[in-house]
Amino acid sequence: MRNIRIAAVNICRFILAVTFIFSGYVKAIDPLGTLYKLKDYAAAMALNDILPDWALVIVAIALGALEFSLGVFMLFAVRRHMVSKLTLALMSVMTALTVWIYIADPVKDCGCFGDALKLTNGETLLKNIVLIACATLVAWRPADMARFISRTNQWIVRYYTITYIIVTSVYCLYTLPIFDFRPYRIGTNIKQGMEIPEGAEQPEFESTFILRKNGVTREFTLDNYPDSTWEYVDTKTVQTKKGYEPPIHDFSITTNDTGEDITEQVLTKKGYTFLLVSPRLVVADDSNFGDIDQIYEYAEENGVDFLCLTASTNEDIERWRELTGAEYTFCNADETTLKTMIRSNPGLILLKDGTIIGKWSHNALPQTDDLTAPLEQLPIGKAQNDSTPERLLIVLLTFFVPLMALTIADRLWAWTKWIRNKQDNNRIFNLFKKRKKMRKKIVAGNWKMNLNLQDGVALAKEINEALVADKPNCEVIICTPFIHLASVAQVLDQNVVALGAENCADKVKGAYTGEVSAEMVKSTGAQYVILGHSERREYYHETAEILKEKVDLALANGLKILFCCGETLEERKAEKQNEVVKAELEGSVFHLDAEAWKNIVIAYEPIWAIGTGMTATSDQAEEMLAYIRSIVAEKYGQEAAEDTSILYGGSCKASNAPELFSKPNIDGGLIGGASLKCADFKGIIDAWKK
Ligand code: PEP
Repeated sequence: MRNIRIAAVNICRFILAVTFIFSGYVKAIDPLGTLYKLKDYAAAMALNDILPDWALVIVAIALGALEFSLGVFMLFAVRRHMVSKLTLALMSVMTALTVWIYIADPVKDCGCFGDALKLTNGETLLKNIVLIACATLVAWRPADMARFISRTNQWIVRYYTITYIIVTSVYCLYTLPIFDFRPYRIGTNIKQGMEIPEGAEQPEFESTFILRKNGVTREFTLDNYPDSTWEYVDTKTVQTKKGYEPPIHDFSITTNDTGEDITEQVLTKKGYTFLLVSPRLVVADDSNFGDIDQIYEYAEENGVDFLCLTASTNEDIERWRELTGAEYTFCNADETTLKTMIRSNPGLILLKDGTIIGKWSHNALPQTDDLTAPLEQLPIGKAQNDSTPERLLIVLLTFFVPLMALTIADRLWAWTKWIRNKQDNNRIFNLFKKRKKMRKKIVAGNWKMNLNLQDGVALAKEINEALVADKPNCEVIICTPFIHLASVAQVLDQNVVALGAENCADKVKGAYTGEVSAEMVKSTGAQYVILGHSERREYYHETAEILKEKVDLALANGLKILFCCGETLEERKAEKQNEVVKAELEGSVFHLDAEAWKNIVIAYEPIWAIGTGMTATSDQAEEMLAYIRSIVAEKYGQEAAEDTSILYGGSCKASNAPELFSKPNIDGGLIGGASLKCADFKGIIDAWKK
């Protein structure tokens, strides 16, 4: 079941990653297209002009960058908790939006995949239902996402991705989109793009006729059209079938002064034509008008047509003329068509025999150095290179290959570290050397949420005095609630009784009301912290992933860890105890290196034995502790396993402690209820003297 869940989470994570990378990238490389879509949505919500265009461009870049980055982070399992929550939040907003566009139909294309892939509103809704289901599953179990890059190196992926996508987006805004998914890409013959192939599906229409007779008005169709005694009033015609629509279907040019339709003339003209395209001159960037005028002069000298296509009013055209000294001919065309033709306002297109052979943003126009001879003899007179595979290769080489290289380097590093560990532990002489066991015998108390401050300090004092008077022959630790720590530290001789906390936060510091950080715990004088206790796993939903964070922070702050693991009664009945315990260790502590491992004490606490009075038999406990030692040996080598203290916890008392502690693999106990009275606790400590 667990394996199925992990597989499902990872499948969903890849679906989300691929979709977000694609949708984010196509938006990011076409910020102006995303801006136009945002404006469509704003208009549908009657919010047009609420934000100026420059602010919407920032929103467009941010949206593309957010989606792309979330996709990459999902793919590499970077910041799994935060990324999965953000993805779910984004999907919730998107899904709500698509429910609305599905019902109200305010926009025809959701714009999810820019111009790269058009979906109907129904298809978009379906897609988002699938994605939100995936996002929910992943957000439920983010820790199930397998990592490709170790935590320490993830920052490289984060910064590289965000920088890459923002730089790409700004570059595309400054020049033109790297990939052109619109029908006016380089190599397109506009006239051919407008043709309807023979036999293509025709649109169908249905007409209803409204007629009147003797003051009665009725509607008729062709099938039941009445006799001439009825007087005709009106006709309503609706399209019932869409029919084939050519990729270019609304391209038409009329001269601004005479209103003459010159579409055919422009598209069938042999030779070159420059088209300066500006959907609206009033918002066009006029900073490069000098370059435009030079190209116009060049065109004039070389007998090349130069037209400015715009959907602007005469007033705006006049203002542009005054501002830039433009002498070229202005023609009218549809605003949306012009926005589709080129993502720059203004932008320049070069036609040769009606085919688009070059496109330039106003920021990257051909310069006088490029215009030294007739166009036929110049590189710009040849079709620009617009090879999609070549551009894809550049994206792969500049983005995915470096990340793949990082992943491989990271995995190699992890692998060599593992090999080094293994070699250290396998040296031949280790086989012959009779080592003295280094591990400590430990009795640790866990007060849980018991005793107020005064009672706690009094008990600590009593234990301290008793053990100073009668030295234990094991290490003794008492783990107290947070508020006791600083005061208890004052009354303990920590050479005899060490102090520990029962928990610490999984965050370094900051706005986490009620939490206590590892650093704070350490600052009280405590040396240990209990992590992974079943009560915290169960009641406070501490997952393996959260515990891993806590383990790392505790160690980083110089605390030693009493790490608890153990199975439920059902799991033991199903004979899954080994599997459960192994998974708990693998999930939260087995990522540590051999050096860090020296600060770990394991406490095996079968959940069914905690506070229930049901103790595991000494054989059951011994069997499990031997198993734990064997998996520690597999991971860290035999020597490290021999040096690891492994405790038993669960209804341990003075009466059963001697029997439990007599087992070779049991190095002591983690004691709950029986640590709340000095005599009971001392009774267990004294079991080491028997
Ligand atoms: C514990 O909670 O760590 C524990 C072992 O409790 P008890 O001794 O009360 O079973």
